[in-house]
Amino acid sequence: MNHYKILNSTKKYATSYLNELPDRRVFPNKKSLKLLEKLAVSLPAKPTDPEKVIETLHKIGSVNTVASNGGRYFGFIFGGALPASLAANWLAAAWDQNAAFKVSSPIAAQLEKVAGGWLKQLLRLPEQSAVGFVTGTTMANFCGVLAARNTIYKRMGYDLKANGMATAPEIRVVVGQEVHASMQRALLLAGFGLEKLIRVPVDGQGRIIAEKMPALDATTLVCVQAGNVNTGALDPIKEICLAANIAGAWVHVDAAFGLWAAVSPSRAHLTEGCELADSWAVDLHKWLNVPYDSGVAICKDPKTLQDALSVSAAYLPDSNDPDPLSYTPEMSRRARGTEVWAAIYSLGSKGVTEMVERCCELAQRFAANLKAAGFEILNEVILNQVLVSFGDAEQTLAIIKEVQEEGTCWAGSTVWQGRTAMRISVSSWMTTKKDVDLSSEAIIRVASSLRMP
Ligand SMILES: *Cc1c(COP(=O)(O)O)cnc(C)c1O
Repeated sequence: MNHYKILNSTKKYATSYLNELPDRRVFPNKKSLKLLEKLAVSLPAKPTDPEKVIETLHKIGSVNTVASNGGRYFGFIFGGALPASLAANWLAAAWDQNAAFKVSSPIAAQLEKVAGGWLKQLLRLPEQSAVGFVTGTTMANFCGVLAARNTIYKRMGYDLKANGMATAPEIRVVVGQEVHASMQRALLLAGFGLEKLIRVPVDGQGRIIAEKMPALDATTLVCVQAGNVNTGALDPIKEICLAANIAGAWVHVDAAFGLWAAVSPSRAHLTEGCELADSWAVDLHKWLNVPYDSGVAICKDPKTLQDALSVSAAYLPDSNDPDPLSYTPEMSRRARGTEVWAAIYSLGSKGVTEMVERCCELAQRFAANLKAAGFEILNEVILNQVLVSFGDAEQTLAIIKEVQEEGTCWAGSTVWQGRTAMRISVSSWMTTKKDVDLSSEAIIRVASSLRMP
């Protein structure tokens, strides 16, 4: 078998990579980065032995990754790959399935169906909702907007699918002032102008102020957020949904990471009322810790998503159990439900709860460590996000840069309501108390050495 040898050496490279992960620098050093130049060869005319291809990839590639799936990466809002989900990803790659149709992959379709059901249960979303397996929250937000747009136009008597956006009447789109770039990108892709968005004022944690919401009607799309990318705070979704439901407006929830609070008994109250919305976008490569790229678009009325995405009767689902492509903008795609199924199956609901709660508790520990050292925490640490100020913008940025170069851990910068801050996100299943303490010590050491007296 010609696969056998190459997969065995790949296994060797991958396991040595993962073994070194806990102790290595998070960001590659300058010497490693220099190696990247070796890849810039001219287009090879002759074939290269596949073994050699993988060996080169390992030698140059493995030292030039960012150890974002290790325990001391706190940048953006990432997450690593759980062992079962990583292994499932390998097996799924060996299967090389096209997940578009049930006839192109019975196993992919079934895994998505089962994993989709589990996700709805974990996140406390309505059972009958459609679940589309997409690349992440941006695409999931896009799906929510498409379903909303098509439904609202149908209600208005405008045939969007026949006539397109150019002659379409206006849909009012309401967002919070803290709307995520991904949500705006999704709106842009769907033909909405960013200057036309009605932006509602937010409070000190970035939550929409419910009293400041404009009047809603059946031509309104409201995009709320479960999990502010800086503070972790959730919009008052219940209040907004109750008003929207009466008015007949569509509510879409950008729930990239914040809806996972639903699995934690002590935090589930934060997500109360989320189930009253019409559509949700949830990332799986973030807090569920599956490999990239993975997210789900969930739509309460399955027909709304199917109808928004179908172009001809030939593709219209003929049953209540349509092909997976009915719920995603893509047709051919990989069987990304495989890893989702494996992650949830391996953890059980108990394990998912423990993972989410652990991240939240470690975020609190991080904040406590840094606060005790005299640094200011700018947000209420309700989930996995911590914002730290080290003084003025210049000083804070200098400290963040030096922390990144020092290599013990990695965290990025942000500007929170006018103040420059380090943003720490604890989203990986790998992160331990020891990782948090080692990282806090490194940050404090760097900050003390750079801080003006
Ligand atoms: C990460 C994130 C997104 C974007 O998700 P992608 O998976 O990168 O497309 C959108 N909204 C929020 C609130 C996020 O945290």
